[in-house]
Amino acid sequence: NKIIVIGAVAGGATVASQIRRLDKESEIVIYEKDRDMSFANCGLPYYLGGIVNNRDLMLSATPEQFNNKKDITVKTYHEAIALNAQDKTISVKNHQTGDIFTDHYDQLILSPGCRARTLPFESNRLFTLRNLEDTDRIESFIEEQHVQKALIIGTGYVSLEILENFYYRGIKTTLIHRSEQINKSMDNDLNQVIFEEIKKRDIPFRLNEEITNINDKTVTFKSGHIEDFDIIIAGVGIEPNSDWLKTSSLKLNDKGYIPVNEYFETNVNDVYAIGDIIETFYRHTKKRTSITLAWGAHRAASLIAENLSLDNPHDKVSFKGLLGTNIVRVFDYALGSVGISESELSDYNYTMIEQTQKQHAGYYPVAEPITLRVYFENETRKILRACAIGKDGADKRIDIISTAIIGELTVDDLRDVEIAYAPPFSSPKDIVNMIGYKAQ
Ligand code: FAD
Repeated sequence: NKIIVIGAVAGGATVASQIRRLDKESEIVIYEKDRDMSFANCGLPYYLGGIVNNRDLMLSATPEQFNNKKDITVKTYHEAIALNAQDKTISVKNHQTGDIFTDHYDQLILSPGCRARTLPFESNRLFTLRNLEDTDRIESFIEEQHVQKALIIGTGYVSLEILENFYYRGIKTTLIHRSEQINKSMDNDLNQVIFEEIKKRDIPFRLNEEITNINDKTVTFKSGHIEDFDIIIAGVGIEPNSDWLKTSSLKLNDKGYIPVNEYFETNVNDVYAIGDIIETFYRHTKKRTSITLAWGAHRAASLIAENLSLDNPHDKVSFKGLLGTNIVRVFDYALGSVGISESELSDYNYTMIEQTQKQHAGYYPVAEPITLRVYFENETRKILRACAIGKDGADKRIDIISTAIIGELTVDDLRDVEIAYAPPFSSPKDIVNMIGYKAQ
């Protein structure tokens, strides 16, 4: 049996390892179009900021290690360029030699992820951040050019993380965004703390602003503003790496994501897809969605490995769906959310309960407020979405609500969540309980 995996990072490397854990026999080959495998995407902004100062920690495995320890073949600089579902082959281009060859699979697992969207300007000062190669390029540019002034375009979590890290590194950074809707995972009004944090640090920012021209260091903006920057980082969204599949019989949705069922099966036999590339469904509402975060890639990898190792396919374990649980830190604040997005709420008849209270006993030192918002469906009282912001403890509350949604608790059940209480940790009526009381 031969298993081919496309993409060798979060989903791809994990699924191959998980399969090998349970299946010592099959041949496993991973094709990766770029230089590296198994790098820590999520850690890259912190490496650029010097918070993680050892580059080796950003690369958790090499093809040699995968070969020696796991008997998995990883071919980097090998790009899958076509899928021929009928004869179960893929065409692969070796970028080092230019050779194109075909390879046969019994099972094919696609984890090609997404790429950073770029801006239509020619400039050696303009960068995006998606992988370790990008990180190395940005790092050398900062060092060689003695970068002191940066411009960041966009306010998704990657942009916000780079902003924070450049600040700690001592690079004077300006932030712009083309609309007023920043950090889309969060209710937009709760994003106010982001502006407060960046104002406090004298970081210039402008909303409803775009670049119209870049001439070496000189950037011209839509507003008419002109300013020089040493480096420009664009964090303006992502696009699925599925163009090479358009000529195949594999179904893509109108945005280019691959729809999968609860077994991560695509419409083509023996072809699975996982990670950022998939269109899957929300756990609690069952509506279709794409959530481009690491947790889902890892969960899918384990589930596919388990299912492929079964003797009886009837015992297959099904995936229960995603909640999109997410969090970002912006200086002193954490902003997290879980569930459907703010814009999807309009499909429901819902009520929102909000509570602001200290993360632990008010008399205990460094008590800081958390704001927690929970949206629930009026008819069923099931939780649809929650947001939390605060300097400390927002992550815990989001994880509690995530667990509550998974357990299908209602907003009323939040009164019964028996939290671990001692003054440094929470209150006898924690903010999560208070949401339940307020909902009555
Ligand atoms: P990837 O990990 O992107 O891997 C896909 C790989 O496939 C790539 O290496 C690509 O080169 C390769 N590939 C693509 N097409 C082909 C082809 N045709 N042939 C061969 N190879 C191909 N998520 C979180 O949950 N929390 C975070 O804090 C977080 N921080 C992040 C910070 C940054 C800077 C970035 C870039 C991402 C972050 N993410 C975070 C997102 C997370 O990294 C992704 O959700 C996750 O990596 C998705 O895994 P994947 O396997 O689908 O795609």
